[in-house]
Amino acid sequence: MPSRCGCRPRADNSVSPIKPKPGILNVKPYEVGVSKLAGIENACKLSSNESALGPSPKAAAAYQAAAEKLHRYPDGASSDLRAAIAAHYGLAADRIICGNGSDELLHLLCQAYIGPGDEMVYSAHGFSIYPIATLAAGGKPVAAPERNHTAQVDALLACVTPATRILFLANPNNPTGTYVSATEVRRLRAGLRDDILLVLDAAYAEFVRCNDYEAGIEMVSTHDNVVMTRTYSKIYGLAALRLGWAYCPAHIIDVLNRVRGPFNVSLPAQAAGIAALQDTAFTQAAIDHNEKWRGWLEEELRKLGLFSDPSVANFLLVSFPAEPGRNAAAADDFLRRNGMIVRRMEGYGLPQCLRVTVGTEAENRDFIRIMTEFTQGKTHAG
Ligand SMILES: *Cc1c(COP(=O)(O)O)cnc(C)c1O
Repeated sequence: MPSRCGCRPRADNSVSPIKPKPGILNVKPYEVGVSKLAGIENACKLSSNESALGPSPKAAAAYQAAAEKLHRYPDGASSDLRAAIAAHYGLAADRIICGNGSDELLHLLCQAYIGPGDEMVYSAHGFSIYPIATLAAGGKPVAAPERNHTAQVDALLACVTPATRILFLANPNNPTGTYVSATEVRRLRAGLRDDILLVLDAAYAEFVRCNDYEAGIEMVSTHDNVVMTRTYSKIYGLAALRLGWAYCPAHIIDVLNRVRGPFNVSLPAQAAGIAALQDTAFTQAAIDHNEKWRGWLEEELRKLGLFSDPSVANFLLVSFPAEPGRNAAAADDFLRRNGMIVRRMEGYGLPQCLRVTVGTEAENRDFIRIMTEFTQGKTHAG
């Protein structure tokens, strides 16, 4: 289409001599969860592990109050937010760095510590941002095999070479929902050279209720090569705000502060982040809701002959049989026709699975009702 000035945009830019750095064109762009279905108003979205209870009303009020100060740059150091996080989790504020979602921090870690020729180790069904951020930095992702959709310490260690710079472990992992015990994570770190950074991505830590799980706070405090990342996108229900943080050794804080944008966390995000931490009753309600309904979903699916991996997070990875008409693609299609969006897993090499977020009571009951119809072989939207 001609633009207003009358000139025509070039049809094809693949012949342009302007090239990105090596590796970038190998990035397969991150596939976000679908949020709309054509022809269906108010589709139910259980595809992005967002909080069933939404944000704390106190966090939403703090966000709104920040509207009056939108002409001001935010505090570039996120000082009050870091102090609030430090107080809440019992950490040192100067070892915390905040980011525009934890994704930004994962990218910054790769940007700072990975270059051409360097390798990053992760587990085969690990979070897809790790290979994306590694390739974008010019490095090479190396995937270690899993057992029962769970990361294996020995397999991860077997992938380490002299070129390894970072090992990313999402614990619990997305999209599998499984976790690695604190003892095993310690064994993993002990098996790494001191010049390899272990990044523990604890995006779902608040949901975990197992005695043998640790998010990584103690390991960061006691070792120079461990980083823990956290997010406000899951338990705190603030995914739209883009807010995450990392707990790091001092030398890594220093490096990340050099490469991050000077105002990488917006003023409304800082304000809402502080308020969300203070609303502990709301956070507890979100944890309790998840625990109750994840168990219910698991059990109801089992009754339908559908099994999920043992999840400690706010979603289930559900496995389907291979037969056409009964497989994951057919189930996804049936769910969509009934106004429900879950996450396809082809991009993770799990085409026989769908990932389903724990929703509100009504959403969970709807999901099971539709899956019941699907397993009974109904083919029409109900
Ligand atoms: C959702 C998620 C994140 C969080 O990303 P944000 O950028 O903070 O929204 C990080 N890691 C994993 C494994 C996740 O599932």
